[in-house]
This record gives sequence, structure tokens and C-alpha cells, in this order.
Amino acid sequence: MRSPSEMRIIEIDITNACIHQCSNCTRFCGHHKTPYFMEWEMFKKSVDSLLEYGRCIGMMGGEPTLHPQFERFARYLAEVYPGQHHVPSSNQPLPVFSNYIRDKNYLQHECLNRHKGPGLMSATSKRYFQHFDLIQKLFSYQSINDHNNPSLHQPVLVSRKDLGIPDEKWFPMRDNCFFQNQWSASITPKGAFFCEVAGSLDMLFNGPGGWKVEPGWWKRTPDEFGDQLQWCELCGGALFQQGRLASEEIDDVSPSLLKKLEEVGSPKLRRGAVSVLQNLMGYDGQEMPNTRRRYLSDFTKRVSACNQAIYPDGISTILPALDCAFGAQMNQALAQAETGWVYLPEAPESHLDEQMAERLKQVVLNPEVLYRIDKEGESGWLFHRRAKALRQAGFDGIAHCVSREAFLAFWPEEQGCVLASAFDQFQNPDLEVWAAYAQSTAAEHQDEIERCLKKIRSDYQ
Ligand code: SF4
Ligand code: SF4
Repeated sequence: MRSPSEMRIIEIDITNACIHQCSNCTRFCGHHKTPYFMEWEMFKKSVDSLLEYGRCIGMMGGEPTLHPQFERFARYLAEVYPGQHHVPSSNQPLPVFSNYIRDKNYLQHECLNRHKGPGLMSATSKRYFQHFDLIQKLFSYQSINDHNNPSLHQPVLVSRKDLGIPDEKWFPMRDNCFFQNQWSASITPKGAFFCEVAGSLDMLFNGPGGWKVEPGWWKRTPDEFGDQLQWCELCGGALFQQGRLASEEIDDVSPSLLKKLEEVGSPKLRRGAVSVLQNLMGYDGQEMPNTRRRYLSDFTKRVSACNQAIYPDGISTILPALDCAFGAQMNQALAQAETGWVYLPEAPESHLDEQMAERLKQVVLNPEVLYRIDKEGESGWLFHRRAKALRQAGFDGIAHCVSREAFLAFWPEEQGCVLASAFDQFQNPDLEVWAAYAQSTAAEHQDEIERCLKKIRSDYQ
């Protein structure tokens, strides 16, 4: 066991609502009759209690972007606890999104920000995409996993007593628990906890709540964990080195935990998505495994190419006549568009080439950016019809546009991007702007930054 002060991340669990109900989820998504959403005052108090912590403060769920106040929370966290550096973006499309985030975490969070700043753990839902630009701008670190690729989760709802593990064997195992030694402490709406899984158990089984959320709570050492260690008695975190595919959405539970799930009326249990572990007596635990291997360690697989939440679902072409009713026609065309992404051709009656549309569907585009497509025989603009620029203009603002130029002027210059001809070939289109940023802002760490960039580049050779 270790003090939260030694951890690289402390999580604030702002909701246990999620888009998934993964097997053996450490937040027990699917077992609650109703999800919780942390209140603003509690979130603010949680962040404020960690201002002296010095590492990463993570917004966690469930899926944190489902919280109705996600933007307000994220802005507050980034305002009072910013990363020192924020690397710029070229706005170019991202063909392999997970690789891009891996690189950015490495350069921005580990190298430049020395692990300090706001963090986000997300399953990259549709709500993540809605907040895409905000997230890229505010967070120093992102842990993303859409769980579409094989990812194994070990059983959590298991008691060592069901396994007959005696005290003398148990206490060293517990103190060596992977989660407490590698993952995080957490704050839930009910207080602060020495271990994130303990916080989730307290929420699921109506426990007494955690420590008072006040400055310095995270300095407690293991000898001060006290009654919170009781949660380890209901937890398989220290017991297993095998797991089940997260995508199966079935929980492996031991008999006494099954009873507790019945007592709390678990919806996931009622619909039969629970498997009871049999013949556990005599299982004597195992040496603590390197569980990193068990949880998807290959970051490149964290977001799959079939993730329809962030890759374009399609592109509609809109063809307003270039006359004085331009704005009214745009409103009508935007309302009728069948996809989020729309293409406005420069020449009347022109359409987006099919091959180009297919290429665009293979990359992640930023919904706040206005993309200029300019290649022989085809030129126009690509944008998302729910872009902030259009939301701010509103129906009336768009209606009053007398020309295409007036309409395109809704996007500020920094939210524009001329699409490179090989836009889908770059593994990481931002490497050059990052190199320039690093050289201009952090002269005292030049050698180290150069090493980071060299390592990132070497991954693509
Ligand atoms: S995405 Fe994460 S929080 Fe959601 S159910 Fe899966 S493991 Fe749990
Ligand atoms: S046994 Fe469970 S509650 Fe205890 S430290 Fe490990 S993960 Fe946390």
C-alpha cells in the first residue's frame, strides 16, 4: 500500500453513468439502480483539496463526458490546476487517433508538464466527440479506451473469505494489491478514498462514505487508512491474474458478493449478466502479477477504427444557390443534412468526390474546425453542422448571411485548416508544430524534449 501522495493520478469520480457495462468494471457500472452525477460544489471542493498535490487530477466515471456539467467542471479544473504547457495543434485530421493521444501524453504530460495537470479518463463516447475541441485544449493527459478491442478485466466482486485465504496469507497479498499500488486514490460524492475501487464499493453497497474532502486528505499514509481497509474484504483486486473480455459485459462474482448484489437489487444481476465463481475454496491466491499486461497495454488499440462516435458517419453535400437568400437556404440545407459532417462546394452543382469522401471517413476530424479542401477539380469547405461557430451564430445569424463569405466568416481564423493533400497518410500531423513549440518555450529542458520527439518519430519509422 502507498499514500495517495505517491500516486501519479488521483481521480474524481464525477459519475458512474457509462455507455458500457464492461465485464468486471471497477466502477460496477450496470449494478446501480440509478447513476449518480456529482454536484458542482462537491467537484469544486474536490479539486480545491488537491491544489498542492502536484501530479495529475483525473476526471473519471463511468464516462465523465456524460455528466451534464462536464464542460463547467473541465474548465474549472483546467483553470485552477493547469498543465504548465499546452502543445499546439495544426488542426489536420488524425488518421490513428489513439497513437496521436499516446504521443501527446508522452510529450505534453510526461515530458513538458512533468505529470502535473488535468487528466481525463474516457471511453470516447459521442459526448466525448461533442466536447472534442475543448478536451484537446484543456487536458494535459488523456486515458482513452473505447473497449472495442480485446481488453481483459479481472474479477473484482470477490471476497477472499469465499476463497478460504487465511489472514497470514491475505494481509501481505492485500498490501501488495496491484490497483492500490499502480492505480489511484479517488473522491466520490461520498468522500475521499485510499483506493478507487474502495470508493466504488462504498457507493455500490451503501457504505459509510469516505474521508472528509479537505486540503491534505491525500497525505494519509497506509497506517492511517483504518476502516477503509474493510473494503478489501469484499474485493478481488488483490486476488486474480486472469480476466474476462470487457466486451462480454459479464461480471464474475463470488457467492458472498452475489448475496450483496441481491440485497442492493442490482439491475445487472437481474438481467443475468453475472457469473458465479465456483470451487473457489483452496484457491490460494497468486503472486501479484504485472496486471498492466492484463489491461490493454497497447495504446494503439485504445480507439478502434470502427468507433463511429468519433470517426465521421458520412458526409452530406449542400448546394445553396449563390444569391441573396443564401442564409435561409443554408438553414434549410443544414436542417435536412443526414450526417453530422457537411460539404459546401465552391462551384455550384459540384459534389464531393466519392473517393475523397471515403478517405475523410477514415480520419478523426475536429468538429469545431472549418476544413478547406482545395485540389484540382474539387474545392470547397467541410464542417460539422453542430460546430460551435454555427451554434453561436444561431438560426437568425445564419439566416442573415447574404453571401457564402459571410457564412464562412463565422469560424475564427485559428479554427481553420487547409487540408493537406496527403492528410490521411500522416501518422502524427502535429510533430512539426510540437517541435517548434518545444524549442520556443522550454529551453531549460531542450535535451530531454529532443529525446521525447526522437522517440515519437522513431515509432513511425
Ligand atoms: S467503459 Fe470503463 S467505466 Fe464504463 S463500464 Fe467499461 S470499464 Fe466501466
Ligand atoms: S483489494 Fe480492492 S479495495 Fe483493497 S486496495 Fe485492492 S483494489 Fe483497493
